[in-house]
Amino acid sequence: MGQAQTPFVCLVTLCLASLERTLRHINDTGSLPCDGKCQGGELPSDRPLWLRRHWLILLEVIFGEILLADTLAANPDELRGAEQAIASVRVLRCGHAEQHKEHRYGSKLPQLWWVFFGRSWVRLPLQVFLIEHRDGLVLFDTGIDPAIMTDNRYIKQAIGRFLLPRIFKLHITESDRIDHVLADTGVAASDIRMAVISHLHFDHVGGIAQLPDADLLVSAREWAILSEPHPEREWILREHIELPSARWRQITFEPTDDPLFEGFGGIHDVAGDGSMILLPTPGHTAGSMSMLIRQKGWDPILLMGDLSYEAKLLEQDVVPGTGDGSTLLASFAAVRRLKEQLPELALVASHDFAARAAVMQATRDTMQDQDKAQ
Ligand SMILES: [Zn+2]
Repeated sequence: MGQAQTPFVCLVTLCLASLERTLRHINDTGSLPCDGKCQGGELPSDRPLWLRRHWLILLEVIFGEILLADTLAANPDELRGAEQAIASVRVLRCGHAEQHKEHRYGSKLPQLWWVFFGRSWVRLPLQVFLIEHRDGLVLFDTGIDPAIMTDNRYIKQAIGRFLLPRIFKLHITESDRIDHVLADTGVAASDIRMAVISHLHFDHVGGIAQLPDADLLVSAREWAILSEPHPEREWILREHIELPSARWRQITFEPTDDPLFEGFGGIHDVAGDGSMILLPTPGHTAGSMSMLIRQKGWDPILLMGDLSYEAKLLEQDVVPGTGDGSTLLASFAAVRRLKEQLPELALVASHDFAARAAVMQATRDTMQDQDKAQ
């Protein structure tokens, strides 16, 4: 029930109690209440006392039920608000890395030039998001597998092993594996019911082996990359994705006439309650998707994976050094159109140090440890 109704209900309850007292007095005495001034004028009733009392209580209960039902029916939003779909959104760190400045902020130089000759490195966090939904715990992405640091066959192709350290400097330890990161927050990996995979890059799917009880949601378009020639050239490593234990679920986007989502090619409502809406945001990879989180009392949040490396870069239309430029710009425009309609929308990128503060502000959360974000 809404707080605004509480004083009203209290007032009516008092009135009902007073009415009951008055009726009971009339019923028992045949006169109005006289505040103790009655002088023997009471008329004895020929009905038993329990019968005289109980019809009054019954009347009060019926009045109360009608009043309560009417109050709730008039405020369906407040009734829904009584049961929050999402209790919290947490930003979890799975290590950090460095990338070339040209990679993060874009460059007119050819990609191979800055890969080999770029000298300015930018630090970035590897982050995943833990959503506490009433149907179960949901992860948005699963981080990187620390085995990439110790297993020199983690990347099968020699060209990949040669290029990786020239594109990224990884700073990952065993404690950055998703099950350990979750344990640090008091959550067992086996408690994760679903992981939404924004895209299939190795630093977003690296934890799926630790999540045998989770459905893994991926867009059908992204999954199709595995059937195209050489997905490993896009850093999509089949051998770490097509695991026997992995419960992959391909999702497609349904058309919608909701004007809010006009710029996107459909939506997918994860829980069926509007709290977690998947949106296709291609460009970084062909099947990349973002997730819109909406919860009463919060600002809406768009978890956008690697669509942009920083929220402000998307707002400034800064295209990074990888991905399909024109597709990225179209997705940026769709996201900005969404933000025009939801001005409070928090844009949250997976590799943005500003992500945690943005989520905390949107969810009115003061509990997450800011220091770990640095
Ligand atoms: Zn990526």
